[in-house]
Amino acid sequence: MMLEKVVIANRGEIALRILRACHALGIKTVAVHSTVDRNLKHVAMADESVCIGPPPSAHSYLDIPAIIAAAEVTDAQAIHPGYGFLSENADFAERVEKSGFIFIGPTADVIRMMGDKVEAIRAMKAAGVPCVPGSGGPLGEDGDENHRIARDIGYPVIIKAAGGGGGRGMRVVHTEATLLNAIVTTQSEAKAAFGNGQVYMEKFLENPRHVEVQVLADGQGQAIHLGERDCSMQRRHQKVVEEAPAPGITDAQREQIGRVCVDACLRIGYRGAGTFEFLYEDGAFYFIEMNTRIQVEHPVTEWVTGIDLVREQLLIAAGQKLSIQQSDVIIRGHAIECRVNAEDPDTFMPCPGLINHFHAPGGPGVRVDSHIYEGYRVPPNYDSMIGKLIVHGADRAQAIARMRVALGEMIVDGIKTNLPLQQRIMADRGFQLGGMNIHYLEKRLKEQQTSGLG
Ligand code: ADP
Repeated sequence: MMLEKVVIANRGEIALRILRACHALGIKTVAVHSTVDRNLKHVAMADESVCIGPPPSAHSYLDIPAIIAAAEVTDAQAIHPGYGFLSENADFAERVEKSGFIFIGPTADVIRMMGDKVEAIRAMKAAGVPCVPGSGGPLGEDGDENHRIARDIGYPVIIKAAGGGGGRGMRVVHTEATLLNAIVTTQSEAKAAFGNGQVYMEKFLENPRHVEVQVLADGQGQAIHLGERDCSMQRRHQKVVEEAPAPGITDAQREQIGRVCVDACLRIGYRGAGTFEFLYEDGAFYFIEMNTRIQVEHPVTEWVTGIDLVREQLLIAAGQKLSIQQSDVIIRGHAIECRVNAEDPDTFMPCPGLINHFHAPGGPGVRVDSHIYEGYRVPPNYDSMIGKLIVHGADRAQAIARMRVALGEMIVDGIKTNLPLQQRIMADRGFQLGGMNIHYLEKRLKEQQTSGLG
């Protein structure tokens, strides 16, 4: 069985990425878009398109009835949510399925469980996944008890909202004196921001790396892992550069943590593509959350494994069993992704506007995933990412060298982009060494104000 028609409930580069995977499988596509997104590249390429509302996401890309109605009027079979927007919204997944469509992702129950971090950690612990030492459940009212939990874990600790996301709803506590106040403040902030005041406590790891494991599961008893990615180059918890494999991770470590993730997938009945995110410190992995969707940085994994992840998502959604065995997954060479953002490279302010000249780089080992073209106007309403530049090399040094050439070749005129920042990162000695922690980039950016990244 194969899907016949898929609604792409997203925009920008990932909508185009999904469209390409659909068309390569002979699946027809429906683009849904806001009024300001009529000129998106994938809208022009889709078999059909439906305008679902005005520019604000709340009235278009987050409008569940509008998206389901689009699937109904176009007689589509399935809905691909991409990343962001409704991709991890369990109510959406449930309503899609209840309306008779296939949600391209895991079941609503699994999404809901992973969306509640306390529940997710509980389930992962039970499945044998290593977690950050912590409270193991939501914090109660008892101050003495909370003090005891923090003492047992050892300061510094971090208070995190069970319903948090996007790097929000967290507070680091260094001393006993500020603990109870921090808990109360995080609880009330979490209640206001996420409608869920539950918070939990974890050991605050001081210098971890961000290492995540990609999985694929068919929901029919088969699951595999596709190795790991290192996404430690971050600014304000936003990933800037990603790579695969993670520098310094041995084959044995990859096999070990990969197997743990696969076992967890089977245990929770996971279906589709997913990512286990870990903090990695002193040779140990600590689970922080699972993303139940395709991720921005999936291309680096695709390149080192040769597996088309979006294609696999579509095949799984069509009800097919995984055709790839774990022994088929072989990591070859090294891949790096630079996110290209329409933003000022120094102030990081978004810079929407008209692209009056665009030239994409090319050559061996160069991939550009982007929806932009000459004459395209970047709207101010959405995320500032306008594409991704991905390179592959026989080893990490060759990948970096190719990325530097590709960044130099890429031209985006009319708006400001972070391409100059990406060039500085590629030229940075710490980055070239590899294995830097999640605070490294921000530290270098601060130093740069006095000396200079490089
Ligand atoms: P979100 O869903 O908001 O992204 P995460 O749990 O993934 O929340 O955490 C986001 C980021 O916060 C991590 O990538 C890391 O930088 C930091 N962080 C979270 N938990 C810890 C911890 N226990 N110790 C140190 N840093 C942490």
